[in-house]
Amino acid sequence: MDKYSRLRQLLEQRQEQHLYRRLRITESPQQPVMQVNGKMMLTFCSNDYLGLANHPEVIKAFQQAANQYGVGSGAAHLVNGHSRLHQQLEEALAEFTKRERALLFSTGYMANLGLVAALAERPDTVYQDRLNHASLLDAALLSSAKRVRYPHNDTQQLAKRLEAQSTGQKLIVTDGVFSMDGDTAPVKALASLAKQHEAWLIVDDAHGLGVLGETGAGLLEAEHLAQEDAVLMGTLGKAFGTAGAFVAGSTDLIEYLIQTARPYIYTTAQPPAIAAASLASLKLIQAESWRREHLKELIQMFRHGAAQLGLALMPSSTAIQPILVGENAKAVAISQQLEQMGMLITAIRPPTVPPNTARLRITLSAAHTQEQVERLLAALNQVVNT
Ligand code: PMP
Repeated sequence: MDKYSRLRQLLEQRQEQHLYRRLRITESPQQPVMQVNGKMMLTFCSNDYLGLANHPEVIKAFQQAANQYGVGSGAAHLVNGHSRLHQQLEEALAEFTKRERALLFSTGYMANLGLVAALAERPDTVYQDRLNHASLLDAALLSSAKRVRYPHNDTQQLAKRLEAQSTGQKLIVTDGVFSMDGDTAPVKALASLAKQHEAWLIVDDAHGLGVLGETGAGLLEAEHLAQEDAVLMGTLGKAFGTAGAFVAGSTDLIEYLIQTARPYIYTTAQPPAIAAASLASLKLIQAESWRREHLKELIQMFRHGAAQLGLALMPSSTAIQPILVGENAKAVAISQQLEQMGMLITAIRPPTVPPNTARLRITLSAAHTQEQVERLLAALNQVVNT
Protein backbone atom coordinates (compact mmCIF):
# COMPACT_ATOMS: atom_id res chain seq x y z
CA MET A 1 0.00 0.00 0.00
CA ASP A 2 1.43 3.40 -0.87
CA LYS A 3 1.85 6.04 1.85
CA TYR A 4 -1.21 8.10 0.90
CA SER A 5 -3.48 5.05 0.66
CA ARG A 6 -2.35 4.16 4.17
CA LEU A 7 -3.31 7.63 5.45
CA ARG A 8 -6.71 7.37 3.77
CA GLN A 9 -7.29 3.99 5.40
CA LEU A 10 -6.36 5.35 8.85
CA LEU A 11 -8.71 8.32 8.37
CA GLU A 12 -11.55 6.02 7.32
CA GLN A 13 -10.96 3.88 10.40
CA ARG A 14 -11.35 6.95 12.58
CA GLN A 15 -14.59 7.84 10.83
CA GLU A 16 -15.99 4.34 11.40
CA GLN A 17 -15.12 4.56 15.11
CA HIS A 18 -16.85 7.97 15.42
CA LEU A 19 -13.48 9.46 16.36
CA TYR A 20 -13.07 11.82 13.42
CA ARG A 21 -12.48 15.45 14.45
CA ARG A 22 -13.63 18.42 12.41
CA LEU A 23 -12.92 22.14 12.60
CA ARG A 24 -15.62 24.75 13.06
CA ILE A 25 -15.12 28.32 11.86
CA THR A 26 -16.09 31.15 14.18
CA GLU A 27 -16.75 34.67 12.97
CA SER A 28 -17.25 36.54 16.24
CA PRO A 29 -15.32 37.03 19.46
CA GLN A 30 -15.24 34.35 22.12
CA GLN A 31 -18.48 34.88 24.07
CA PRO A 32 -21.61 32.87 24.97
CA VAL A 33 -23.49 33.72 21.75
CA MET A 34 -21.20 33.30 18.77
CA GLN A 35 -21.38 32.88 15.04
CA VAL A 36 -20.12 29.37 14.31
CA ASN A 37 -20.10 27.90 10.79
CA GLY A 38 -22.31 30.79 9.73
CA LYS A 39 -24.96 30.24 12.41
CA MET A 40 -25.59 32.01 15.74
CA MET A 41 -25.01 29.52 18.55
CA LEU A 42 -25.28 29.56 22.32
CA THR A 43 -21.99 27.98 23.38
CA PHE A 44 -21.04 26.01 26.49
CA CYS A 45 -17.63 24.71 25.47
CA SER A 46 -14.98 27.39 25.86
CA ASN A 47 -12.47 27.84 28.67
CA ASP A 48 -13.09 31.60 28.87
CA TYR A 49 -14.36 31.04 32.41
CA LEU A 50 -14.50 34.67 33.47
CA GLY A 51 -15.64 36.21 30.19
CA LEU A 52 -12.44 38.20 29.68
CA ALA A 53 -11.48 37.12 26.15
CA ASN A 54 -13.52 39.95 24.66
CA HIS A 55 -13.38 42.47 27.52
CA PRO A 56 -12.97 46.13 26.38
CA GLU A 57 -10.15 46.84 28.88
CA VAL A 58 -8.21 43.80 27.69
CA ILE A 59 -8.72 44.74 24.04
CA LYS A 60 -7.63 48.32 24.76
CA ALA A 61 -4.43 47.18 26.49
CA PHE A 62 -3.67 44.90 23.53
CA GLN A 63 -4.23 47.69 20.99
CA GLN A 64 -2.17 50.25 22.88
CA ALA A 65 0.72 47.83 23.26
CA ALA A 66 0.56 46.93 19.56
CA ASN A 67 0.83 50.65 18.74
CA GLN A 68 3.86 50.98 20.98
CA TYR A 69 5.65 47.63 20.40
CA GLY A 70 4.37 46.45 17.02
CA VAL A 71 3.11 42.92 16.54
CA GLY A 72 5.77 40.22 16.53
CA SER A 73 8.26 39.85 19.38
CA GLY A 74 10.79 38.94 16.69
CA ALA A 75 12.97 36.63 18.75
CA ALA A 76 13.20 34.24 21.69
CA HIS A 77 13.18 35.67 25.23
CA LEU A 78 16.91 35.01 25.61
CA VAL A 79 17.77 36.83 22.38
CA ASN A 80 15.97 40.21 22.15
CA GLY A 81 12.31 39.17 22.35
CA HIS A 82 11.79 39.78 26.10
CA SER A 83 10.02 43.14 26.30
CA ARG A 84 9.35 45.36 29.31
CA LEU A 85 5.72 44.13 29.12
CA HIS A 86 6.79 40.47 29.40
CA GLN A 87 8.94 41.42 32.38
CA GLN A 88 6.06 43.32 34.05
CA LEU A 89 3.71 40.39 33.51
CA GLU A 90 6.16 37.91 35.03
CA GLU A 91 6.58 40.15 38.08
CA ALA A 92 2.82 40.63 38.46
CA LEU A 93 2.14 36.87 38.13
CA ALA A 94 4.79 36.08 40.76
CA GLU A 95 3.17 38.54 43.16
CA PHE A 96 -0.34 37.26 42.38
CA THR A 97 0.61 33.62 43.03
CA LYS A 98 2.86 34.50 46.01
CA ARG A 99 5.94 32.95 44.41
CA GLU A 100 9.43 34.48 44.13
CA ARG A 101 9.47 34.36 40.35
CA ALA A 102 7.36 33.49 37.32
CA LEU A 103 8.50 32.56 33.82
CA LEU A 104 6.39 33.00 30.69
CA PHE A 105 6.02 30.28 28.08
CA SER A 106 4.30 30.66 24.71
CA THR A 107 1.63 28.03 25.50
CA GLY A 108 0.62 25.79 28.40
CA TYR A 109 1.56 22.76 26.36
CA MET A 110 5.09 24.10 26.05
CA ALA A 111 5.28 25.14 29.71
CA ASN A 112 4.54 21.56 30.74
CA LEU A 113 7.06 20.12 28.28
CA GLY A 114 9.68 22.59 29.46
CA LEU A 115 9.10 22.20 33.17
CA VAL A 116 8.86 18.41 33.43
CA ALA A 117 11.62 17.67 30.94
CA ALA A 118 13.94 20.16 32.67
CA LEU A 119 13.45 18.63 36.11
CA ALA A 120 13.36 14.93 35.21
CA GLU A 121 16.05 12.83 33.56
CA ARG A 122 17.40 9.31 33.79
CA PRO A 123 17.29 7.65 36.42
CA ASP A 124 14.43 9.81 37.80
CA THR A 125 10.76 8.80 37.84
CA VAL A 126 7.73 10.91 36.89
CA TYR A 127 4.48 9.91 38.62
CA GLN A 128 1.32 10.95 36.80
CA ASP A 129 -2.36 10.81 37.62
CA ARG A 130 -4.05 8.55 35.07
CA LEU A 131 -6.29 11.44 33.95
CA ASN A 132 -3.54 14.04 33.50
CA HIS A 133 -3.65 16.34 30.48
CA ALA A 134 -1.93 15.12 27.30
CA SER A 135 0.74 17.82 27.57
CA LEU A 136 1.91 16.45 30.94
CA LEU A 137 2.05 12.91 29.56
CA ASP A 138 3.98 14.13 26.52
CA ALA A 139 6.30 16.08 28.81
CA ALA A 140 7.36 12.91 30.59
CA LEU A 141 7.90 11.24 27.20
CA LEU A 142 10.20 14.07 26.20
CA SER A 143 12.30 13.57 29.34
CA SER A 144 14.39 10.45 29.59
CA ALA A 145 12.87 9.64 33.00
CA LYS A 146 10.93 6.51 33.92
CA ARG A 147 7.16 6.98 33.70
CA VAL A 148 4.64 5.69 36.23
CA ARG A 149 0.89 6.39 36.23
CA TYR A 150 -1.32 6.03 39.29
CA PRO A 151 -5.12 5.59 39.48
CA HIS A 152 -7.03 8.88 39.45
CA ASN A 153 -6.55 10.85 42.69
CA ASP A 154 -5.49 7.65 44.52
CA THR A 155 -2.86 8.85 46.97
CA GLN A 156 -2.53 5.42 48.62
CA GLN A 157 -1.55 3.78 45.35
CA LEU A 158 0.79 6.66 44.64
CA ALA A 159 2.43 6.21 48.06
CA LYS A 160 3.05 2.52 47.30
CA ARG A 161 4.64 3.34 43.97
CA LEU A 162 6.81 6.06 45.54
CA GLU A 163 8.01 3.65 48.23
CA ALA A 164 9.01 1.11 45.59
CA GLN A 165 11.42 3.53 43.89
CA SER A 166 15.01 3.32 45.05
CA THR A 167 17.11 5.45 42.70
CA GLY A 168 16.79 8.91 41.19
CA GLN A 169 14.60 11.90 41.95
CA LYS A 170 10.81 11.73 42.13
CA LEU A 171 8.37 14.09 40.39
CA ILE A 172 4.65 13.96 41.17
CA VAL A 173 2.69 15.63 38.40
CA THR A 174 -1.03 16.38 38.41
CA ASP A 175 -3.73 18.51 36.85
CA GLY A 176 -5.14 20.87 39.53
CA VAL A 177 -8.65 20.82 38.06
CA PHE A 178 -8.95 17.81 35.71
CA SER A 179 -9.69 19.18 32.28
CA MET A 180 -12.23 16.59 31.13
CA ASP A 181 -13.77 15.74 34.52
CA GLY A 182 -13.82 19.02 36.42
CA ASP A 183 -12.86 17.49 39.77
CA THR A 184 -9.78 18.67 41.67
CA ALA A 185 -6.60 16.89 42.76
CA PRO A 186 -6.05 16.22 46.49
CA VAL A 187 -3.13 18.63 46.44
CA LYS A 188 -2.66 18.79 50.22
CA ALA A 189 -2.24 15.02 50.48
CA LEU A 190 0.00 15.07 47.39
CA ALA A 191 2.13 17.82 48.96
CA SER A 192 2.63 15.83 52.14
CA LEU A 193 3.61 12.72 50.13
CA ALA A 194 6.02 14.88 48.13
CA LYS A 195 7.56 16.20 51.34
CA GLN A 196 7.90 12.73 52.80
CA HIS A 197 9.68 11.45 49.67
CA GLU A 198 11.63 14.63 48.91
CA ALA A 199 9.80 14.70 45.59
CA TRP A 200 8.82 17.63 43.40
CA LEU A 201 5.08 18.27 43.20
CA ILE A 202 4.00 19.96 39.96
CA VAL A 203 0.43 21.22 39.70
CA ASP A 204 -0.99 22.21 36.30
CA ASP A 205 -3.69 24.65 37.33
CA ALA A 206 -4.82 25.56 33.80
CA HIS A 207 -8.49 25.34 34.81
CA GLY A 208 -8.23 26.63 38.41
CA LEU A 209 -6.22 29.81 37.90
CA GLY A 210 -8.44 32.90 37.95
CA VAL A 211 -11.43 30.88 39.11
CA LEU A 212 -10.51 29.21 42.41
CA GLY A 213 -9.08 30.74 45.58
CA GLU A 214 -10.07 33.88 47.37
CA THR A 215 -8.24 36.22 45.01
CA GLY A 216 -8.43 33.92 41.99
CA ALA A 217 -4.86 32.64 42.35
CA GLY A 218 -6.15 29.11 41.84
CA LEU A 219 -6.32 25.75 43.55
CA LEU A 220 -3.03 26.21 45.40
CA GLU A 221 -4.35 29.40 46.97
CA ALA A 222 -7.65 27.69 47.84
CA GLU A 223 -5.73 24.85 49.52
CA HIS A 224 -3.10 27.13 51.10
CA LEU A 225 -0.11 25.49 49.43
CA ALA A 226 3.02 27.63 49.45
CA GLN A 227 6.01 27.81 47.13
CA GLU A 228 7.91 25.03 48.92
CA ASP A 229 4.88 22.71 48.69
CA ALA A 230 4.24 22.77 44.95
CA VAL A 231 5.48 24.19 41.65
CA LEU A 232 2.65 25.95 39.82
CA MET A 233 1.98 25.91 36.08
CA GLY A 234 -0.78 28.32 35.07
CA THR A 235 -2.21 29.13 31.65
CA LEU A 236 -3.39 32.47 30.31
CA GLY A 237 -5.60 31.20 27.47
CA LYS A 238 -8.43 30.14 29.77
CA ALA A 239 -9.75 32.33 32.64
CA PHE A 240 -7.33 35.11 31.65
CA GLY A 241 -8.89 35.13 28.19
CA THR A 242 -5.56 35.80 26.45
CA ALA A 243 -2.81 33.31 25.51
CA GLY A 244 0.34 31.74 26.87
CA ALA A 245 1.33 30.26 30.20
CA PHE A 246 3.79 30.52 33.06
CA VAL A 247 5.61 28.54 35.72
CA ALA A 248 5.82 30.09 39.18
CA GLY A 249 8.25 29.05 41.92
CA SER A 250 11.53 29.81 43.63
CA THR A 251 14.23 31.97 42.07
CA ASP A 252 16.53 28.96 41.63
CA LEU A 253 13.82 26.94 39.90
CA ILE A 254 13.08 29.74 37.45
CA GLU A 255 16.77 30.42 36.78
CA TYR A 256 17.25 26.69 36.13
CA LEU A 257 14.35 26.68 33.65
CA ILE A 258 15.81 29.70 31.85
CA GLN A 259 19.08 27.80 31.42
CA THR A 260 17.65 24.40 30.48
CA ALA A 261 13.95 24.34 29.42
CA ARG A 262 14.11 23.74 25.68
CA PRO A 263 10.53 24.91 24.85
CA TYR A 264 11.48 28.17 26.58
CA ILE A 265 14.87 28.65 24.93
CA TYR A 266 14.14 27.57 21.37
CA THR A 267 10.95 29.45 20.55
CA THR A 268 9.80 32.96 19.72
CA ALA A 269 8.43 34.97 22.66
CA GLN A 270 4.73 35.78 22.52
CA PRO A 271 3.83 39.20 21.08
CA PRO A 272 4.32 41.91 23.74
CA ALA A 273 0.71 43.02 23.19
CA ILE A 274 -0.46 39.63 24.49
CA ALA A 275 1.51 40.28 27.68
CA ALA A 276 -0.17 43.70 27.98
CA ALA A 277 -3.59 42.09 27.54
CA SER A 278 -2.76 39.50 30.22
CA LEU A 279 -1.75 42.31 32.60
CA ALA A 280 -5.14 43.96 32.01
CA SER A 281 -6.90 40.62 32.63
CA LEU A 282 -4.99 40.11 35.84
CA LYS A 283 -6.21 43.49 37.11
CA LEU A 284 -9.82 42.49 36.34
CA ILE A 285 -9.39 39.07 37.96
CA GLN A 286 -8.20 40.77 41.14
CA ALA A 287 -10.66 43.68 41.14
CA GLU A 288 -13.85 41.95 39.99
CA SER A 289 -14.49 39.06 42.37
CA TRP A 290 -18.15 39.19 41.27
CA ARG A 291 -17.12 37.19 38.20
CA ARG A 292 -16.09 34.25 40.38
CA GLU A 293 -19.25 34.66 42.51
CA HIS A 294 -21.57 34.71 39.50
CA LEU A 295 -19.82 31.68 38.02
CA LYS A 296 -20.27 29.80 41.32
CA GLU A 297 -23.99 30.59 41.29
CA LEU A 298 -24.34 29.33 37.71
CA ILE A 299 -22.48 26.11 38.60
CA GLN A 300 -24.82 25.48 41.55
CA MET A 301 -27.86 26.29 39.47
CA PHE A 302 -26.73 23.95 36.67
CA ARG A 303 -25.94 21.06 39.01
CA HIS A 304 -29.21 21.42 40.87
CA GLY A 305 -31.22 21.52 37.63
CA ALA A 306 -29.28 18.64 36.02
CA ALA A 307 -29.72 16.46 39.11
CA GLN A 308 -33.47 17.09 39.02
CA LEU A 309 -33.50 15.97 35.39
CA GLY A 310 -31.59 12.80 36.30
CA LEU A 311 -28.62 13.67 34.06
CA ALA A 312 -25.32 11.77 34.61
CA LEU A 313 -23.41 14.55 36.36
CA MET A 314 -19.80 13.97 37.38
CA PRO A 315 -18.34 14.84 40.82
CA SER A 316 -17.24 18.35 39.92
CA SER A 317 -17.79 21.64 41.67
CA THR A 318 -15.91 23.67 39.05
CA ALA A 319 -16.90 25.36 35.79
CA ILE A 320 -16.28 22.07 33.93
CA GLN A 321 -19.54 20.10 34.25
CA PRO A 322 -19.39 17.04 31.98
CA ILE A 323 -22.40 14.81 31.36
CA LEU A 324 -21.28 11.21 30.98
CA VAL A 325 -22.70 9.43 27.91
CA GLY A 326 -20.48 6.37 27.34
CA GLU A 327 -20.53 5.40 23.67
CA ASN A 328 -18.74 7.60 21.14
CA ALA A 329 -21.55 7.45 18.57
CA LYS A 330 -24.18 8.43 21.13
CA ALA A 331 -22.14 11.38 22.44
CA VAL A 332 -21.61 12.63 18.89
CA ALA A 333 -25.32 12.21 18.05
CA ILE A 334 -26.39 14.21 21.12
CA SER A 335 -23.88 16.94 20.37
CA GLN A 336 -25.18 17.13 16.78
CA GLN A 337 -28.80 17.34 17.96
CA LEU A 338 -27.88 20.17 20.32
CA GLU A 339 -26.09 21.90 17.45
CA GLN A 340 -29.26 21.73 15.36
CA MET A 341 -31.05 23.41 18.27
CA GLY A 342 -28.48 26.25 18.18
CA MET A 343 -26.39 25.07 21.11
CA LEU A 344 -22.70 24.20 20.92
CA ILE A 345 -21.41 21.57 23.33
CA THR A 346 -18.57 19.32 22.23
CA ALA A 347 -18.56 15.54 22.50
CA ILE A 348 -15.28 14.42 24.06
CA ARG A 349 -14.12 10.98 23.00
CA PRO A 350 -11.07 8.73 23.45
CA PRO A 351 -8.13 9.14 23.47
CA THR A 352 -8.90 12.45 25.24
CA VAL A 353 -10.93 10.42 27.80
CA PRO A 354 -10.75 6.67 28.65
CA PRO A 355 -12.65 4.21 26.38
CA ASN A 356 -16.44 4.02 26.93
CA THR A 357 -16.54 7.31 28.83
CA ALA A 358 -17.41 9.67 25.97
CA ARG A 359 -19.08 12.74 27.38
CA LEU A 360 -20.53 16.14 26.70
CA ARG A 361 -18.02 18.62 28.11
CA ILE A 362 -20.17 21.48 29.32
CA THR A 363 -18.29 24.52 30.54
CA LEU A 364 -19.83 27.54 32.21
CA SER A 365 -18.55 31.10 32.16
CA ALA A 366 -19.18 34.23 34.19
CA ALA A 367 -20.36 35.69 30.88
CA HIS A 368 -23.36 33.33 30.82
CA THR A 369 -26.71 34.47 32.23
CA GLN A 370 -29.06 32.39 34.38
CA GLU A 371 -31.54 32.41 31.52
CA GLN A 372 -28.93 30.86 29.20
CA VAL A 373 -28.26 28.10 31.73
CA GLU A 374 -32.03 27.46 31.92
CA ARG A 375 -32.08 27.10 28.13
CA LEU A 376 -29.19 24.65 28.36
CA LEU A 377 -31.05 22.51 30.91
CA ALA A 378 -34.21 22.51 28.81
CA ALA A 379 -32.26 21.43 25.72
CA LEU A 380 -30.43 18.67 27.62
CA ASN A 381 -33.73 17.40 28.96
CA GLN A 382 -35.02 17.19 25.42
CA VAL A 383 -32.05 15.45 23.81
CA VAL A 384 -30.47 13.35 26.57
CA ASN A 385 -33.62 12.26 28.32
CA THR A 386 -35.57 11.13 25.26
N1 PMP B 1 -2.93 21.82 30.80
C1 PMP B 1 -4.24 21.56 30.83
C2 PMP B 1 -4.81 20.87 32.03
C3 PMP B 1 -5.06 21.98 29.77
O1 PMP B 1 -6.37 21.72 29.79
C4 PMP B 1 -4.47 22.66 28.68
C5 PMP B 1 -5.30 23.18 27.52
N2 PMP B 1 -6.36 22.44 27.11
C6 PMP B 1 -3.10 22.86 28.69
C7 PMP B 1 -2.36 22.45 29.76
C8 PMP B 1 -2.41 23.51 27.52
O2 PMP B 1 -2.51 24.88 27.60
P1 PMP B 1 -2.40 25.77 26.27
O3 PMP B 1 -3.75 25.70 25.63
O4 PMP B 1 -2.02 27.11 26.74
O5 PMP B 1 -1.35 25.12 25.42
